[in-house]
Amino acid sequence: MVALFNNKTMFLSPILTAILCLCFVLAGAELQRFNHPVKPDGSLSVMVVGDWGRRGTRNQSQVALQMGIIGEKLNIDFVTSTGDNFYDNGLTGVDDPAFDESFSKIYTASSLQKQWYTVLGNHDYRGDVLAQLSPMLTKRDRRWFCQRSYIVNAEIAEFFFVDTTPFQDKYFTEEEGHTYDWRGVFPREEYLSNLLKDVDLALRESTAKWKIVIGHHTIRSAGHHGDTMELVTQLLPILQENNVDLYVNGHDHCLEHISSLNSPLQFLTSGGGSEAWRGNVKWWNPKEMQFYYDGQGFMTMKITETEVEIKFYDIFGNVLHKWTATKTLHSPIYVEKLVVEDLSYGEICNKMY
Ligand SMILES: [Zn+2]
Repeated sequence: MVALFNNKTMFLSPILTAILCLCFVLAGAELQRFNHPVKPDGSLSVMVVGDWGRRGTRNQSQVALQMGIIGEKLNIDFVTSTGDNFYDNGLTGVDDPAFDESFSKIYTASSLQKQWYTVLGNHDYRGDVLAQLSPMLTKRDRRWFCQRSYIVNAEIAEFFFVDTTPFQDKYFTEEEGHTYDWRGVFPREEYLSNLLKDVDLALRESTAKWKIVIGHHTIRSAGHHGDTMELVTQLLPILQENNVDLYVNGHDHCLEHISSLNSPLQFLTSGGGSEAWRGNVKWWNPKEMQFYYDGQGFMTMKITETEVEIKFYDIFGNVLHKWTATKTLHSPIYVEKLVVEDLSYGEICNKMY
């Protein structure tokens, strides 16, 4: 697909229910920007799933089935993967059958035949990273789109995909005993510093009503991995300075919503694409912890110019948590933040504490 972007504008063939128009232009920063149209009524519906590729096992197929049903109801515009796309060790190459077995043959519902904007997780870096970034994969399945860091501009919202794995120090030591494919990342300091500058500049120049940053690793999480301190110190200040509305991630195999006491920024974890129920949830300040579910599922975002509605679903299609934020037409600042519905909050609190 990347090769197809050589002409400034390209049109993807219709993927069943939508004609996706992806226009490639250079952003003000180094990050490439791809345009994705909104619906005719100006809204956008996005589905978010993370930590999934296990050849259908560990409830991946059940999550996929429910994604298809909910995707149909919401008429989603695209799917976003928060990374750890292929377990345990990414792909072996562009011909790896795991791509079909964990992606193409799993997410088969017609509502999911949309563009999949994906990022890489730490497990993806344990395999052939260049394979996941290759246009060859898009030839195998037209939905697939993966780059390290990039922007999807959908008019009312901009989505900033950030490659978070190279931030984490422990992957660069022997401590874990895994090998990582760092081609394109070394020299690491330069890679990270350029990436942070690019993200900062792109966010600063963005005029989108909603700024949504997507990465694999947590910034704030009560789950198994907890906070990623490298991102807390290096990326979080940039998100706060630039009035980012949502940070969306995977890595912890759960569904989770943490708010900030000192800013409107919300931390949303959608990492329930397959294996979950790790059972080691840490205590978190209840004033910030809006929702935690240790099991499988996924998240949706319904976005208009004045409102974002977040919903978390389990594998049965139950809405576990719903949250809405609104802005006035001409203000970049929240005027209202409201938890409208939280069907299982009591139950989850009981589990958690
Ligand atoms: Zn991970």
